[in-house]
Amino acid sequence: MILKNANVLYNDKIDKLDIKIENEKIIKIDSNIEAKKNESVLDYKDKYIIAGGIDPHTHFNIFTNTQSSDDFHSGSIAALHGGTTTVIDHPGFGPKDCALNHQINKYHEYAKQSLCDYALHGVAQHINESTFDEMKSLKQSGIHSFKMYLTYLYRLEDNDVIKLLNYAKELDIIICVHAENHFGIEYLKKIYKERTDLLEPLKHALSRANIFESEAVYRLLSFCEAIKFDKLYLVHMSAKESFDVIRLFKDRGLKFYTETCIQYLFLDDCVYLEDDGYKYILSPPLRKKGNEKYIYQAIKDGLVDTIGTDHCTFSLEQKSIGKTDFSSCPNGTPGVEERIALLFTEFLKGTFTAKEFVDLSSKNAASIFQLKNKGCIDKGIDADIIVIEKGKYYFDKIHSLCGYTCYDKIELQAKITDVFLRGEHVIKDGQCINKKQGIYVNNID
Ligand SMILES: [Zn+2]
Repeated sequence: MILKNANVLYNDKIDKLDIKIENEKIIKIDSNIEAKKNESVLDYKDKYIIAGGIDPHTHFNIFTNTQSSDDFHSGSIAALHGGTTTVIDHPGFGPKDCALNHQINKYHEYAKQSLCDYALHGVAQHINESTFDEMKSLKQSGIHSFKMYLTYLYRLEDNDVIKLLNYAKELDIIICVHAENHFGIEYLKKIYKERTDLLEPLKHALSRANIFESEAVYRLLSFCEAIKFDKLYLVHMSAKESFDVIRLFKDRGLKFYTETCIQYLFLDDCVYLEDDGYKYILSPPLRKKGNEKYIYQAIKDGLVDTIGTDHCTFSLEQKSIGKTDFSSCPNGTPGVEERIALLFTEFLKGTFTAKEFVDLSSKNAASIFQLKNKGCIDKGIDADIIVIEKGKYYFDKIHSLCGYTCYDKIELQAKITDVFLRGEHVIKDGQCINKKQGIYVNNID
């Protein structure tokens, strides 16, 4: 198959090129590729072609007192419509004291329904005498990263955090971390509860103050510096104060990875004052208007590695309790379907260079999490390809089963019309025609 005449984002620039696909791979990229007899040729004149997106942070099939709207089936359909061909999912917590492979085994089962390709992060919800060996054996099955939480039910305390970082150093594994100071947040929540019965959405944001995130980031990076661990991955960095800390430690020469998410670039906490402000309740919360400028600056300064979504969806009915009691509202927002169109719009506006766009939307995630043959348009790489039409659009049709988007007021310049997953045409003119199942991506031969 040959895709012809598109503006292809290749080698960090846009050029008019043809792409030849064979056996799921890109085998040739050139200015004019001749088709063989009976070879199918698709003309994408005036369209853009970019690599399939990789979302390093989704939560499909998650249960947090209530079941998420999206499982791997609906979540992966939303992902494909939005040009994301691979997700790396974060499993929820398992039962108390469960072994590390408990959630991985469960999520491998869930992911059998996935129509896009996927990888999994592990979740370290406690540390005991078998944790090291469990991490070692999961690494052999292609799990390169484990997440720890500094807040929520199965948070790790500092002594266990240091143990886990040391294990990961020895095993050469990435530790993803949800960095927020648990007791600071609990203290402010208690104060709000004592003062008033009305716990409206804005108080969610106020109780999870910026400094609770940046304090946790400072503490973690201090531990990493002390034990010389260079594979910490900070998930969903949101507060400007955290980027000050990130800059400080980068200047000191410490190596680590930073993820931010689309919601912190495109939304701010004013939305909590709207009638349906509860639909934006997530953690970390949306920050004050102007905070996003610090994140864009951090991107320009090379301090951000990936932009994910933390896609974690609940219906408006499930979330509506947040109207009067944010503390009972299931946390999370959709984004897996919206991410690429939003980011490519910013590329077209000149906010991101071609290199920044590719690095942040797919390439760095593939290299950090060792997703073999993924992440960019290149010879020998999986033919995960998106076709984009330039114009003026809004998100008017959403495939996530949560039934809403947080980005409906944003004018887009990019519409994803066609998607190829390992060479198979899975979205055609905006319709899902997928016959291919997603596969588990890892670096094991
Ligand atoms: Zn998350």
